[in-house]
Amino acid sequence: MKISRDLIKKFSNSISLNTDLSNYSWFNLGGPAEYFFKPKNESQLIEFLKSNRTNKLNLTILGAGSNTLIRDKGVKGVVLKLSPSFSQIKLIEKDIIQAGAATLDRKVSNFAKDNNIGNFEFLSCIPGSIGGAVIMNSGCYDNDISKILISIRAIDINQCVVREITRNEIEFYYRGTNLPKDLIITSVKLKGIVKPKKMIEKIQNELIEKKKILNLVK
Ligand SMILES: Cc1cc2nc3c(=O)[nH]c(=O)nc-3n(C[C@H](O)[C@H](O)[C@H](O)COP(=O)(O)OP(=O)(O)OC[C@H]3O[C@@H](n4cnc5c(N)ncnc54)[C@H](O)[C@@H]3O)c2cc1C
Repeated sequence: MKISRDLIKKFSNSISLNTDLSNYSWFNLGGPAEYFFKPKNESQLIEFLKSNRTNKLNLTILGAGSNTLIRDKGVKGVVLKLSPSFSQIKLIEKDIIQAGAATLDRKVSNFAKDNNIGNFEFLSCIPGSIGGAVIMNSGCYDNDISKILISIRAIDINQCVVREITRNEIEFYYRGTNLPKDLIITSVKLKGIVKPKKMIEKIQNELIEKKKILNLVK
């Protein structure tokens, strides 16, 4: 099914056709997205999802593309990638951070370090976004996202509403969760422990060096 001209006009600044996805893949591989949608904010995203109730186009969510292989023939339907406005980080309390789902893990780790919050060091070794990290329950060196997550904010694709889901409602297992597929995470709240920046920096550097030995840091 094709998107109507009206819809393309309505979201003209945020939607493009036949977009090369290799630019959005960590591996720099893959063909085009039939439609590539970068919502500016939650309300535009909800509006788009409501419109898609009639179009019923297949929706593929892309984070930083570090755990996704895109086939050369590309992707039919809409590939949705959160715009940079979903990359904001805020300090909520002395040990709690709120991060937009598109924020890179490395940035979250550095923000935590700069605010003397420990336990986020492992994120500096993972090349994804924090939204992708929740979906994949990403982790390394004895830590993972389930250990620092407080809650997620997400949009329910079918209901077109915002949902807040706490960590206790999510079942985490190795590199995955039981979260339903019809959620688009828009932000996360994470909790660490207050620690001197120097100590955090030391751990962060040690982990990065370990990963470099494995040739896993770009
Ligand atoms: C060199 C290298 C090293 C790596 N090292 C590690 C490691 O040490 N530990 C580890 O756990 N992983 C590692 N990975 C895998 C990968 O980086 C992680 O799984 C990462 O968390 C994926 O995040 P992403 O944003 O790139 O997700 P993507 O690859 O873009 O997407 C992964 C999944 O998450 C979904 N998704 C992404 N964002 C959202 C969102 N906002 N809402 C809903 N769904 C979403 C996608 O639909 C897809 O199903 C590594 C990968 C590479 C290439």
